Order: sequence, then C-alpha cells, then structure tokens
Amino acid sequence: MTRSALPLALVFVIPALIAAAAQERDEMPPPEKTEVWEPEPAVVHAGGHGKAPSDAVVLFDGTDLSKWTGRNGAAAWTVADGALTVAPGTGTISTRDSFGDVQLHIEWRTPTEIVGESQGRGNSGVFLMERYEVQVLDSYENRSYSNGQAASIYKQHIPLVNASRAPGEWQTYDIVFMAPRFGSDGSLEHPATMTVLHNGVLVQNHVEIEGPTVFRGQPRYEAHAPKAPIQLQDHGNFVSYRNIWVREL
Ligand code: MG
Repeated sequence: MTRSALPLALVFVIPALIAAAAQERDEMPPPEKTEVWEPEPAVVHAGGHGKAPSDAVVLFDGTDLSKWTGRNGAAAWTVADGALTVAPGTGTISTRDSFGDVQLHIEWRTPTEIVGESQGRGNSGVFLMERYEVQVLDSYENRSYSNGQAASIYKQHIPLVNASRAPGEWQTYDIVFMAPRFGSDGSLEHPATMTVLHNGVLVQNHVEIEGPTVFRGQPRYEAHAPKAPIQLQDHGNFVSYRNIWVREL
C-alpha cells in the first residue's frame, strides 16, 4: 500500500464496510420474532434442604406411613427419628397411589454396622411401577456384580460411576422415569426410560429399560396399566429411607 492509499482506505473503504454491516443487520428479522411467551411455566417453589418442591406429592415426610401399604394392609416398616426402616420379613411396601411418568426424590441409608458382603449388604431397592428396580445397596468398598451394585438398573444397566457414600451416611437418588407405552393390542410402542442421579452425580443417562426387573433370565415386557405404585424392597437388611417425594410429569 502506498503512502497515499492509506488515507483513501480510511475515507472510502471503512465507511462502506460499516454501511454494509448495518444493512445486513437491518435485513435480519427483529429479535422479538423468536421470543416465545406462551405457555408461561407455572411457578414452583423449589424446596431443597430436605423440603419438597411446592408441586410435589410427599410420600414420606418423616412422620408416618399413611401413603403406603404392605403385604397385609398397613405397611409394617419402622418409623423413627424421621426415617422409615425396613422391618425384615414384613415384605415390600407400596404407595397407595399409582404413578406413571415421574420425577422421584428419595434418600436412603444403609446400616453403619456392616453385615454380609456383595448383594447381602444393605440391599433394598426402589421399584417404579412395581416392576423396574433401581438397586439400593451398600456399594462402598463392597464389590458385587456391576449391573447389581447401587444405582444400577438391576441386571440391566451398570451405573456410569460409583458415587456411593459410606455405610450410615444418607444418600440421594433423583430419578426421572418415563413409563413404557403399549399399543391397544398390547405390543410395546416405546420402552420405559430412566435417568438417575446418585448423590447429585449422573449415573444413568436416559437409559432404555429392557422390561420388568428379573433375578433370573432375560427381562420381557408385558403390557400393563399406565400407572402403578412405587415400591420399596424388603431384602432382609435394615435399610432406611426419608424425604420421599414425587412429581408427576
Ligand atoms: Mg435390591
């Protein structure tokens, strides 16, 4: 560039570039065109620190088992100090209400006194729709088969990581469960899916459920009602639960 070319660029070229940019901007649709105002999300008070969100159904608030049933009617597990604890041999407990697609929050604790090993240590489980188990187990320095450890979808999906806390410490599951969809002829249209956070750590990322949880053999779907109870498993260990709430999706 010659000495005289530089002032020419300042006088002619740069203003032309600025004008072109302005024109391009004016030709874009106004930003309001891409703002969406309806529907407005409902206001929910988020809870936290042991409190449920304002639109949640509280299934256990630390006081009683009125929202649950057991093998012979009333749920026979123990309620003490704001927690409910498996009473071994009394059986699995179920919510009185039925649920389909949900966000479920539940806190659990395995016994401080370590008894047993592998699947025999702090075993329980959270069953969505009476069928699909997120395993509860003391998996803190306690090796078991990977698809049966804590936060596994039992015998179906290994957790991405082991986020277990030590026995006696409270742990959390936050579960997003989408129920399976069946056609009118009973055929599977869409499998159930689950996302699970264990102690705030993502351990199941929108995995597809293969069918109801089975101990032996392969899972296989059979059509069922669009809603069913949530269950907590009596596996013979003194596992405790607290602060259980669910939001229907
Ligand atoms: Mg279990």
